[in-house]
Amino acid sequence: MNKNVVLTLVILLCLCFLLVFSACKKATQNEFNIEKKACNGCGRCASVCPSDAIYYDGDNKAVIDQSKCTKCGECVAICPQHAIY
Ligand code: SF4
Ligand code: SF4
Repeated sequence: MNKNVVLTLVILLCLCFLLVFSACKKATQNEFNIEKKACNGCGRCASVCPSDAIYYDGDNKAVIDQSKCTKCGECVAICPQHAIY
């Protein structure tokens, strides 16, 4: 294998790595969270969540389980307090 082929392969590998890294970073930045102070515990978000990803803490404030959330946005749309961002 000559030097040019090796160099091209290395550059392609680096580009692939950057693309994957960028995609992963974007995915983690797009998670939804709930502003605890704004939440009144009405339960609407949990009732529309198709993934059963919302539960309530000891203060009756909604919390999103990020491991279950599919980022569909249903809870964001229905929250009357605009507490989910
Ligand atoms: S819909 Fe909004 S205010 Fe109601 S429980 Fe969910 S986050 Fe809290
Ligand atoms: S974004 Fe969708 S899946 Fe995630 S918590 Fe809200 S309703 Fe559930």
